[in-house]
Amino acid sequence: MEATERSKGSYSRKGSSFERESPPMVTSPDILNASILIVDDVPTNVELLERMLQLAGYTSVASTTDPLEVCRLHRENQYDLILLDLMMPGMDGFQVMDCLTKIEEGEFGGYLSVLVVTGQPAHKLRALQLGAKDVISKPFETSEILARVRNMLEIRLLNKEAKKQGRILEQLVEDLQKQIITDPLTNLYNRRFLQEYLPQEIAKARRTSSSLAVLMFDLDFFKRINDVFGHEAGDAFLKSVATLLRGCIRESDIACRYGGEEFVLVLSGASLDGAMKKAERIRKAVMELDLTIRGKPLGTVSTSIGIAVYPEHGTGMEALLRAADEALYEAKENGRNRVVASEPGDESRETKK
Ligand SMILES: [Mg+2]
Repeated sequence: MEATERSKGSYSRKGSSFERESPPMVTSPDILNASILIVDDVPTNVELLERMLQLAGYTSVASTTDPLEVCRLHRENQYDLILLDLMMPGMDGFQVMDCLTKIEEGEFGGYLSVLVVTGQPAHKLRALQLGAKDVISKPFETSEILARVRNMLEIRLLNKEAKKQGRILEQLVEDLQKQIITDPLTNLYNRRFLQEYLPQEIAKARRTSSSLAVLMFDLDFFKRINDVFGHEAGDAFLKSVATLLRGCIRESDIACRYGGEEFVLVLSGASLDGAMKKAERIRKAVMELDLTIRGKPLGTVSTSIGIAVYPEHGTGMEALLRAADEALYEAKENGRNRVVASEPGDESRETKK
């Protein structure tokens, strides 16, 4: 049972989400539609091979009698298989292979799919050593050359498919890595990223004897928007704030969604004065956000912002975040819609919120 299922390419695991039938990676039509180039200086040899392949059902067969054209043609068409004669005037098959190898390695991923067709049996070994995947002697049996062409194309197409799957997998890993550190609603970084990033930035500031500011934002009475206009409106507002934050930081700064309606900015190299000015600009800009949902204006939303700066207000991540959070608490206590900086030098403070 197991063997039968495997041979069908099935992952059958009854009742699980893995249950599916995998199609074969390379099918017969794939092979017959693969692109083939015939290279021989003798036109009748080219015609013979061309007719033979077409009769066997191959649909994409090109040819040339000029060896000097091969590399240009391959660069343009990236053939799945090249049937190559060795003895040709102007440029012999070995030189053609050398040039094809360079193109493959430089541009296409390094798989040289060349089947040498030669009247000189003495050249077979050298051709294989120079990278030909297979060699067949003239005169040849039609059935033998067709079998070799088919085998070579199958390997070539499997190689291409494996590369494609590899690229898909790489992209998937990249997407997942991004997802892990991104807030899905706002596309800002999330709290997990902040916890990885901030200690590194603090270490960098310590090494370079520079400063760093942490700005903690909270939208005042945000619950009102969700309650009055619904969560769709709340989400739209959070997205607008995110866009605003992204637009007002430099490349070296980061913006995170810290919690529901809480955001954190990390401004590397910023002084307390610079951070206060930026926070004030952002506070005003959020007030000016003018959003409507289904024709209804959401009204003004104000922001409370707490600021802590390395090294004055803390020398580690916990202390800095706590100091910014405390300053934010002060801003709320003192009437909201304001920017408050942490008090310097007291790393033992407790979080009051
Ligand atoms: Mg020849």
